[in-house]
Amino acid sequence: MAANKFLSLSIGPGDALIVVDVQNDFLSGGSLVALKGDEVVAVLNHHTATFSTRDLPVFATRDWHPPDRCSFRQQGGPRPSHCVAGAEFAPGLKLPASMHVVSKATTRNKDAYSDIEDSDLDAQQRAASVRRAFIGGLTTDYCVLNTVIDSLALGYETFLLEDAVRAVEFSAGDGAKTLAQMHKHSARPMTREVIGA
Ligand code: ZN
Repeated sequence: MAANKFLSLSIGPGDALIVVDVQNDFLSGGSLVALKGDEVVAVLNHHTATFSTRDLPVFATRDWHPPDRCSFRQQGGPRPSHCVAGAEFAPGLKLPASMHVVSKATTRNKDAYSDIEDSDLDAQQRAASVRRAFIGGLTTDYCVLNTVIDSLALGYETFLLEDAVRAVEFSAGDGAKTLAQMHKHSARPMTREVIGA
């Protein structure tokens, strides 16, 4: 998609920030690292401050897997063990005290990458009268991708915070490919500079 078409965008009631899985296992030194994943922290801190000073809801999701999850290699799955329940958010991530924490992918037998499937995120958003979801975090090619697509399917106007996402890229190019996929589903690309006062 072409460069961002928004010069500026005001946020207000009905808007929510969704910070996807900014947990240590996806950052440098972790077990399932997103390329340059650490770079999202500063951008997301800008957004959490912007939303929380306007009393707009901030949802922080976290992968919260059982230790014997089916997708882990020791169970015959494709992924290294990561984000076992208790896995911390990045220490540099500044989340407001009022944030809503959403734990997901908590079961052993079912693999899932969406923050909405099998979690109460949708219910929490509806309870907070959210209409527009601003989504960033980790990783572009898995949980961000699936969360954005589910968010659109549920009828939320969905903005993809493109400077606040990073990909794992098990296959080179997965990041760009999945960004294009989200654009095709009508996610609206957005960067830090655009969301202003
Ligand atoms: Zn996971």
